[in-house]
Amino acid sequence: MTTRSETQSTLDHLLTEIELRNPAQPEFHQAAHEVLETLAPVVAARPEYAEPGLIERLVEPERQVMFRVPWQDDQGRVRVNRGFRVEFNSALGPYKGGLRFHPSVNLGVIKFLGFEQIFKNALTGLGIGGGKGGSDFDPHGRSDAEVMRFCQSFMTELYRHIGEHTDVPAGDIGVGGREIGYLFGQYRRITNRWESGVLTGKGQGWGGSLIRPEATGYGNVLFAAAMLRERGEDLEGQTAVVSGSGNVAIYTIEKLTALGANAVTCSDSSGYVVDEKGIDLDLLKQIKEVERGRVDAYAERRGASARFVPGGSVWDVPADLALPSATQNELDENAAATLIRNGVKAVSEGANMPATPEAVHLLQQAGVAFGPGKAANAGGVAVSALEMAQNHARTSWTAARVEEELADIMTSIHTTCHETAERYDAPGDYVTGANIAGFERVADAMLAQGVI
Ligand code: GLU
Repeated sequence: MTTRSETQSTLDHLLTEIELRNPAQPEFHQAAHEVLETLAPVVAARPEYAEPGLIERLVEPERQVMFRVPWQDDQGRVRVNRGFRVEFNSALGPYKGGLRFHPSVNLGVIKFLGFEQIFKNALTGLGIGGGKGGSDFDPHGRSDAEVMRFCQSFMTELYRHIGEHTDVPAGDIGVGGREIGYLFGQYRRITNRWESGVLTGKGQGWGGSLIRPEATGYGNVLFAAAMLRERGEDLEGQTAVVSGSGNVAIYTIEKLTALGANAVTCSDSSGYVVDEKGIDLDLLKQIKEVERGRVDAYAERRGASARFVPGGSVWDVPADLALPSATQNELDENAAATLIRNGVKAVSEGANMPATPEAVHLLQQAGVAFGPGKAANAGGVAVSALEMAQNHARTSWTAARVEEELADIMTSIHTTCHETAERYDAPGDYVTGANIAGFERVADAMLAQGVI
């Protein structure tokens, strides 16, 4: 029997190899570290997981596609972006994961997101593999016509790699209902197939699921509520800070408010808004979803209760709960220290990997309940899988039914992570619980399916 420390040194050796084999991909290294650091107890306890090659296969994507995306802007100038799709692991089902359109996108970012997605999707229990894609295209300030031409060009290459039984993309940062519409239209035109299950996050009326837009934010709030319940508390009357102002942030605020919490902030790259009365969602939705504007406009139009803080950190605002819902590494060690000083009780990740490893460590040390994104934000991809189920059955469910299923899934993810952490001597450590539980499901399927 190998000891945990022997296993840990094998995993550390593997991490060094990952860094050498994947140079200049710091986000991917970080995501791999975060998972491999917590696996020693399960690998030491279950010898089949120490089988040579298992973890080596897990950290190597099954397939990585990179392609040129040429398109013409409104002035007729040719622009060239780079497109990606990383099909990471299909042991549990077709590759599943979003597309991100943002100037920061590169192969390492997509690999980190795809790697996280494997475990997140496994935790949903819904039979979906892990993948991710996107482009360094920046939709901000682009006209609808430019976004459409970009999406059409992107799909003109991507269509050959995806399919309802192969790989099912969805949205992520910079990809919402508008982009999914243009992408779906081009896929349908090229393939001459009405294959509704090829993309999720579609519009209602042409195959989209009710509650899909809300699912990530709603799910994260349900996960945070479950963590609080574990400590004998609930959401009622708690003050919450939320970062971001996209789809995840908006529906996080909506659910917090519905459950009696006071969500007082939102942000974008220009700064943040703090609103003592609680964020007015109608106004925020109007500015972000209809006008595609910036959050300073919110403060201008809201009146006395709100102010805009240019360039500041939303984590400076005292709160009981923090729900980072913007992007990776947005909550660092200093921010974590400030949150702790202000008495934060729980931090739950709506975005993917928003807290740095140092921040996670500090929060856990201070006894703050910490919900890692791969568990806490799994509601989005879970409802994507429910959208696929509805598409296959050529039916659509009521909002109440989808919401009920979402709530059950989030409760079950919370229980799984909680129980797994206890089983491996890490009570209350949701990071360890999520990583081990997700890993067990994927690793068992990979072992059963042989060396492929
Ligand atoms: N981009 C989302 C995530 O990070 C959703 C993916 C999906 O629905 O496929 O999980």
